[in-house]
Amino acid sequence: MTRLAGKTALITGAARGIGLAFAKAYIAEGARVAIADIDLAAAQTAAAELGDGAVAVAMDVSDQGSIEQAVGHTIQSLGHIDILINNAAIFTAAPLDEVRRADFDRVFSINVAGVLFTMQAVAKHMITRGQGGRIINMASQAGRRGEPLVSVYCASKAAVISLTQSAGLNLIKHGINVNAIAPGVVDGEHWQGVDALFAKYENKPLGQKKKEVGEAVPFGRMGTADDLTGMAVFLASQDANYIVAQTYNVDGGNWMS
Ligand code: NAD
Repeated sequence: MTRLAGKTALITGAARGIGLAFAKAYIAEGARVAIADIDLAAAQTAAAELGDGAVAVAMDVSDQGSIEQAVGHTIQSLGHIDILINNAAIFTAAPLDEVRRADFDRVFSINVAGVLFTMQAVAKHMITRGQGGRIINMASQAGRRGEPLVSVYCASKAAVISLTQSAGLNLIKHGINVNAIAPGVVDGEHWQGVDALFAKYENKPLGQKKKEVGEAVPFGRMGTADDLTGMAVFLASQDANYIVAQTYNVDGGNWMS
């Protein structure tokens, strides 16, 4: 279990959920990890639980200055960055005629601009260092097809898939592989908010939407964060050396249903 021995990773939105599961898996594989999150207190708690291999970093991916500071802080703490996971994102749902400009701007500034400018800042460091690197962006099945109430989030994740293709083709000449993971539906705290939005717009009791989407997955249940860690470790490992600009579904067959 040392496929990432000696490696360092910056993981955005790693204070909880999928990002935290990635941090645990990377540490188990021998990496040291910066737990970067807008919720610094939660990042500190997570880093303390993970022990010596983890440091907490304050980071708001929607803010260019904060990105630069977080990247600088990570390099100071860990020495350099081999792997970036752009995991931080927010979700919104609303019928098209109720989408507000402010919500669109907020989602795109975190889910899209956050991914682009964090890639830019970390790629600059990787290029200067001259030892290549790995960038993994968190996309979603929502980026592959529309959902009636989820236009803004779906569009933001389609943009992540597109950015992964362009950045992947741009950066591979520096030995930086950029790829993405597209989960289906993944259980976690995130679902409390999602459920509440669907309760409002589809008039469903709380918990109903989550139950329905889980039952619709061909695998037979919703995913867990741990279902995604294998792909995140693989894409960061030497075994993925020849993989460039791809987005991988890890979704229990959800995409096909
Ligand atoms: P989550 O909401 O549980 O965690 C997101 C984390 O990002 C939180 O710790 C939050 O504090 C942090 N964050 C929010 N805004 C931030 C900002 N501006 N700067 C820095 N950090 C910020 O989410 P999750 O369910 O663990 O999802 C992780 C990733 O996986 C996201 O990119 C999400 O879109 C994607 N995804 C999730 C699902 C799912 O069903 N949970 C499905 C497909 C894709």
